[in-house]
Amino acid sequence: LKYDLRDIGEVGLAARHHLDSAQVRHLLVPVGVELCGEGEEVRVELQLTLASTTSGATAVNVRGSISGRFNVVCARCLGTAPVVVDEPELSLTFMPPSDKSPAEREELNEEDLDTFVHDGVRIDLEPVIREQLVLAIPITPLCSEDCKGICGGCGVDLNQASCACKEASSPATTWAAALSRLKETNN
Ligand SMILES: [Zn+2]
Ligand SMILES: [Zn+2]
Repeated sequence: LKYDLRDIGEVGLAARHHLDSAQVRHLLVPVGVELCGEGEEVRVELQLTLASTTSGATAVNVRGSISGRFNVVCARCLGTAPVVVDEPELSLTFMPPSDKSPAEREELNEEDLDTFVHDGVRIDLEPVIREQLVLAIPITPLCSEDCKGICGGCGVDLNQASCACKEASSPATTWAAALSRLKETNN
């Protein structure tokens, strides 16, 4: 998923990838996304072109689509919650390495997730794809709209059985944490 700036050249370069389960896992596990089941696939079709910044340095425009599917854990019952990725018109720019301090750069990244920086030699599409996958995950992923969840009292899956407890379950969400970790890995 890394491309040498020299290979992009005058005419640009097509970056096509078909990521399988193992590769999707590799992208999402480091940011704390719990995948569930198999059959993940993500298609990446991006066109890379060189551009100049106002100061004459090299930037890289990235345009195209990222689409696919993967399964995360249902926030209520821990079953399988399908996530569909469908970004037909992705458009972003890798900016040249700046002379800003790491702290200033971090500030910029926090304001704008779409800012990516190349190192002067190559660009890495991995954080771009990871971001699209994480953004596709709902705050509360569910196996189905009307998932009844797991009883907080006795642990029974209320989709499959009922119980005598009166206590309602309170599913926790961890995706906000995944999003904040995503920002860290983009640096
Ligand atoms: Zn569920
Ligand atoms: Zn119960």
